[in-house]
Amino acid sequence: MGYENISFPKGSKFLVTGSAGFVGSNLVEAILKLGYEVRGLDDLSTGKTENVEVFLDNPKYEFVEGDIRDFDICMKATEGVDYVLHQAAWGSVPRSIEMPLLYEEINIKGTLNMMEASRKNGVKKFVYASSSSVYGDEPTLPKKEGREGNLLSPYALTKKVNEEYGRLYYELYGLNTYGLRYFNVFGKRQDPHGAYAAVIPKFIKQLLHNEQPTIYGDGKQSRDFTYIENVIEANLKACKADSKVAGQAFNIAYGSREFLIDIYNQLSEALGKDIQPIFGPPRKGDIRHSNADISKAKKLLGYSPDWSFEKGIKAAIKWYKENL
Ligand code: NAD
Repeated sequence: MGYENISFPKGSKFLVTGSAGFVGSNLVEAILKLGYEVRGLDDLSTGKTENVEVFLDNPKYEFVEGDIRDFDICMKATEGVDYVLHQAAWGSVPRSIEMPLLYEEINIKGTLNMMEASRKNGVKKFVYASSSSVYGDEPTLPKKEGREGNLLSPYALTKKVNEEYGRLYYELYGLNTYGLRYFNVFGKRQDPHGAYAAVIPKFIKQLLHNEQPTIYGDGKQSRDFTYIENVIEANLKACKADSKVAGQAFNIAYGSREFLIDIYNQLSEALGKDIQPIFGPPRKGDIRHSNADISKAKKLLGYSPDWSFEKGIKAAIKWYKENL
């Protein structure tokens, strides 16, 4: 359970791309706590400088500011690195529908650059963020690897292409790639601001500021909300995984599901607020229900998430109350 007792060979070096973002900065923090060297790479496009600065006092941390669309930067960033945890991407389904060209450039070309640079620099494991959006319109619950439907957004397509390259880079070049299909991650440092913010931090911020949140649809859609600590565990376990299971993608979630309206009510109660939400039209590209079968990651990566939604949401609320 957890990742506190995971160990890597002495002197191991990690690269975290997207290190100024939500998942990336939490990965950096966890790896530094375990005592290993970490290099962060980020172009600060959607990430935050404070997520970089907070670690700069640690001699085991190094930051490279740069864009993964630039192959030379990817080569420089992967030099001397054992494990790459590739998180850099543009998120948000609705934003990808507005600007598909940019998503192609960053999420597809940028990830391909990272894989190619990792291969050239002899990286041992290349673990990358995929997404539950690759399940598209397949309605069967729980979602299981190998049973995907038609994709619903350019964002989902970029992640699917990443997975195909992940498979090819393993089969053609022997790069040990592991795709992690994250399901709605939440937790400390997730950005609550802006039109494309994720729903949990956005609701918390709006409720704390006595604003009226909008729920798109009837609120009865459900998601397998996954606390950040489980995602850290999955990344570190993938770095330890057998090469025989590389080239594949794995669901990373807690394996339960929550209805949006229930989360809204739970947050309102926890924050002591009584604000009626606005119900807006459902958003294009959104799926109705999501719930992961995590047996593949359990079996092949040894993933064993110990942060339930209830435990995670308490920790997240506490953090936002102290930091917003
Ligand atoms: P985030 O936006 O907080 O972090 C992404 C980081 O990547 C940012 O710091 C940004 O500045 C950086 N970045 C963007 N374009 C870049 C570029 N061209 N070059 C270098 N850096 C660049 O997002 P997050 O929530 O931390 O997501 C991390 C990864 O997980 C992403 O790949 C995302 O698609 C995936 N994912 C996240 C979730 C979730 O619920 N948060 C769910 C599924 C998948």
